[in-house]
Amino acid sequence: MFPVAIEVLKQMIKRPFTNPYPAKYKPKVTLTEVVELVQKGKIKLNPPVEVPEGFRGRIAYNIEECIGCQLCIKVCPSRAIEFVPEVKKVKIYISRCTFCSQCNDICPKKCLSMSKEFELADYEKYGKSLIIGATEDYVKKVEKEKKTADKKE
Ligand code: SF4
Ligand code: SF4
Repeated sequence: MFPVAIEVLKQMIKRPFTNPYPAKYKPKVTLTEVVELVQKGKIKLNPPVEVPEGFRGRIAYNIEECIGCQLCIKVCPSRAIEFVPEVKKVKIYISRCTFCSQCNDICPKKCLSMSKEFELADYEKYGKSLIIGATEDYVKKVEKEKKTADKKE
């Protein structure tokens, strides 16, 4: 009993193991306001670590170079890529991607790559920020351009 009491007393006077909160760096606005400022692009968060070479972040897609061969769809283990026949391009669901990079390796036009972007959180799994490529907006844009071109002929 006695040694336990000594240990308790020791812990009561001991400095905390973790660093105290760096109050002098505390933002002058609330945390919710900080998040809003980040979303508006007014302030930037420091990355927790330097992004290393070869890091596989959010997939990047050069849609104009894509020839619609669908090889990327065949190799994707997580069915993250879909063919959009109206425009003969692909649509990629980032939230399904496992960042394996196999689609990058197979693409004959090298129009897929792994970027260094790691901030992928969103409220919606299939929200606009997590779908890239031949999205509905892209298809609408292409169809509009086609109609305009047809009218001119
Ligand atoms: S990186 Fe892998 S999981 Fe992600 S889209 Fe490409 S093949 Fe699919
Ligand atoms: S492999 Fe490349 S060129 Fe072929 S559909 Fe996929 S992104 Fe387009």
